[in-house]
This record gives sequence, structure tokens and C-alpha cells, in this order.
Amino acid sequence: MANPAETSSPLEETIIIGGGISGLATAWFLHRSGRGVRLLEASPAVGGVIRTLDHPPYRHEQGPNSTLQKPGGADDALGRMVASLGLQSRLCEANAAAGKRFVLKGARLQPLPDSPVAFLRTPLFSWRAKLRLLMEPWVRRGREEESIAAFVRRRLGQEFLDYAVEPFVSGVWAGDPERLSVRAAAARIHALEERYGSLLRGALAMGRVAKGAGMPRGRLVSFDTGMGLLPETIAARLPPGSVTCDAEVIALRPQAGGWQLTLKGGELQWGRRVVLALPALAAARLLRDFAPGAADLLEGIAYGPIAILAIGYPRRNVEHPLDGFGFLAPRREGVALLGGLFSSTLFPGRAEAGRVLVTLFAGGRMGEAFLRTEDARLKAHLTGELAGILGISGDPERVHLTRIPRAIPQYELGHLERLAELDRILAPFPGLYTRGNWRDGISVADCIRNGERLATVIGGEKGAGRSDGGEPT
Ligand SMILES: Cc1cc2nc3c(=O)[nH]c(=O)nc-3n(C[C@H](O)[C@H](O)[C@H](O)COP(=O)(O)OP(=O)(O)OC[C@H]3O[C@@H](n4cnc5c(N)ncnc54)[C@H](O)[C@@H]3O)c2cc1C
Repeated sequence: MANPAETSSPLEETIIIGGGISGLATAWFLHRSGRGVRLLEASPAVGGVIRTLDHPPYRHEQGPNSTLQKPGGADDALGRMVASLGLQSRLCEANAAAGKRFVLKGARLQPLPDSPVAFLRTPLFSWRAKLRLLMEPWVRRGREEESIAAFVRRRLGQEFLDYAVEPFVSGVWAGDPERLSVRAAAARIHALEERYGSLLRGALAMGRVAKGAGMPRGRLVSFDTGMGLLPETIAARLPPGSVTCDAEVIALRPQAGGWQLTLKGGELQWGRRVVLALPALAAARLLRDFAPGAADLLEGIAYGPIAILAIGYPRRNVEHPLDGFGFLAPRREGVALLGGLFSSTLFPGRAEAGRVLVTLFAGGRMGEAFLRTEDARLKAHLTGELAGILGISGDPERVHLTRIPRAIPQYELGHLERLAELDRILAPFPGLYTRGNWRDGISVADCIRNGERLATVIGGEKGAGRSDGGEPT
């Protein structure tokens, strides 16, 4: 590529570094608004942690299995993206059974209550814990920043933390509720206390209790051939030549009117604007030379490690009806598993007829020691635990292990202050933006919404130098 002194048009482009869903969404919405984009991805394929493996008779995910869409609203960037890509007919809503979620207690799977009556009857919580929950509206507001664990203990009691919130936090965040900030990682729940003084009052006001306060609102979606379809399609629909894989950016330098990038191998590229759509550590490396304070802040964001085990069985070998979303395993139950998804129940095409596919998760911030187990023993251990829980006989037909050492960024205590300080340090650098799941939400749908917001900011030529591209959610 020519030097910016010799050519003007490339400077009009935005260069996006990182081809995960954050970078792809930013690129797609910028392209839709008529802006030039170039996307550079270090690995051989786009998608980041989103990867579907098609290994007949099973199809399984190595990253997200689905995401939560809130159709029709201002936040529904996923819906707008799917429509603009022409993927509506490929989008699949999860089986209605997904409304049922199980929690492991006493070696048995118990359904999470989905109504007040079911709550009164569930063996998941003692009578004492149920009465404690009814006292929630009278609990005083917190004053300082709290961990999720401290917040839940204060408002709902220890049992609710152990058998509802902690397993959920492990399942979604691979996180430790004692370290995650309630304000940063569970902003909507925290807002109920702020606004209504009580979670129950807030949930009632929002009409959620009757539908089951534990169930997320919106619809759980994937694609007929798996989550991998989305990044593949975005990359294929961007203008020819605008996406380059095997293109790791190793250095970034501010220049008059733009940015100079150095790729592994020595090639130089220039852009007027640069979006770092990268994991925190990768973004830190590129910022280190000219904004060391920002690099330090990003390096301080912890990540939870994950092992994902896709396991396929002949249907007849599994006693459990697999009639739900899957199950969560509280740490108190003493198993290594964090939980499992009943993948072949959720979406069609994950296992051929007469077979079932379960996706297990292990590790997280609280299970880092277990992940030091070598592959064969780890697979055998998790397969054994699953067999006991679901009543499985015989060996699995398929076992596929994926390890992601830095899987999920942790919004721990002080996270929001960390981001505010980062924005302050990066504010003097016009045309530099950061995106990625380490801020403003970790779900695929969050990353798409945040990409759309950033594209709007860049498209409107305002907000240069802000790093986030939108108000936090
Ligand atoms: C195991 C797992 C399960 C999940 N389950 C769900 C779920 O069920 N539902 C849900 O909604 N969300 C889920 N998530 C979360 C969601 O998938 C992620 O938060 C989201 O996909 C992250 O996208 P990203 O683009 O921000 O980051 P990434 O996917 O990490 O993408 C960053 C990209 O940057 C590239 N890169 C790094 N360094 C460089 C460089 N120097 N130059 C160029 N490129 C570089 C990387 O190769 C990568 O492709 C899950 C995540 C994981 C890990």
C-alpha cells in the first residue's frame, strides 16, 4: 500500500483490527452507511471465538451456542444485521423447551422454578431461604460498589447465591461472583435496586415475575448451520478485498491525520481512523508505545479460562429426556462441570436422528486448577460426571475438547472506573476507537449492538477520540 503522502483515498477508510464479531459488526454497519472499511484479522478465519464445527453426524460450537435477541427494539442491532445480510430465513429460535433450565442439587437435576407456585414447591431452596427472599423488598440499598456475591447475599441470602446466582455467573461469565462487580457485570439487576429499592418490586413493576424472574427476556437464537454462519456471511458480503485474514497487526503509530499500522511480515498500512476490536491484551500491546497508561489498564482486565466438551451419544444410551436448555452445577455440589447445554434439543441439525449432543463447560475463574488436568483425563472426568447426572450408559460416540485459556473478560470490582480512566487517556488521540467484549456487554448480541453504535459515531464524524462509541448499558 502507498504512503498517505502519495494517495488520499485510503485515509478516508476506517481500518478495523480484529475480525471477531465486534470488529465485523463495526465493519458491516460502517459499510452499510457508505463508509470505506478494511478489516485485518490475525488468524486464518474471521469469527474470533465464534466457531462451528461440522463433523457429521454432529455439528457443534466451540464458542457461543446461541445469543439472546430482543426483537424489534432500539437495541436489536442483531435483528437489523440479520435483515441487512438477508439471513432471516437462516435464523432459528431455540426450541420452546429452552425455557426450562435445570440446576444440579444432590446429584439430581431440579428445574429452576418458572412461577411463584413452582418457587414455593422447589426443593432447590429451603423454607428459610424462601422466606428470606420474601423479605427482600425491605432490605436497605447498598452504598458502595459491591461484588455480585455481596449484593445477592445482602438482598436475597446465601442459598440464593449458591443455587441460582453463582452457577449462572459461572455459566455465563466463567467468573467468580465474589470478584465480579454487580454494577458492571449485572447492570440491569443493579439498576432495579437503584430505581425501585428492591429487585422483587422492580421485577413486578417490569412484569417479569409472572413469566419467571430467572428467565432472560427476549428470544434465544442461532442459525441453521450454527453461529459460524454469521461471521462468515458478514465477511463474504463486505466489498471484495476489504477483509484480510492472516494479517496480524504488530504495531500502531499515530501520524498527522491518521494512523500507521505495521503487519507481521513488515507491511505498512495507513488509515484515517483505527478501531481496535481486540481482546484486552492484544489491544494493550498496540497501545503500549504511545499510551502506556491505557495499556496497563487493559492488561489489568482478568479473563476466565474455559474448556468446552462437545459430547455425542446414541439417544437410547441417555435416560434423561433432555427437555430443556441445559443445566448449571453449583460449586457446592463438588463437581468439576460448570454446566451443560442440551444442544440437540435447542436447535435442529446439531445431531442426526437417533443421536443427542450435549455441550459441557468447565473451568472458569473458580476452576482454573481443574483445567491443568491433561486432555485425556479431563475428557474422561467430565464424561464420567455427565454420565452420572444424565443416566448415561456406554461410551460417547463423539468427544471434542476445545480449550480457551483467556475466554471471557471479567468485569471485576473497579471495572467501570478502569474504563473511564482508559477513555480519559485515549481522548487526545483522534480517530482511535476501541471495541470488544471487555466493555459494555459480553454477549454476541451486545458486541453487535456496540459495533452498530460505534459505526454511527464514526459515520457521523463526531466523537473522534472517544474509545467506546456509545453510552454504557
Ligand atoms: C466458550 C464461550 C462461550 C460463549 N457463549 C456465549 C453464548 O452462548 N451467547 C453469547 O451471546 N455469547 C457467548 N459468548 C461470548 C461471545 O461469544 C464473545 O464475547 C464475543 O464473540 C467476542 O467477540 P469479540 O469480537 O469482542 O472478540 P473475539 O471473538 O476474541 O475477536 C477478537 C479477534 O481479534 C483477533 N486479533 C487478536 N489480535 C490481533 C492482532 N494483533 N491483529 C489482528 N487481529 C487480531 C483475534 O484473532 C480475534 O479473531 C461466549 C464466549 C465463549 C468464549
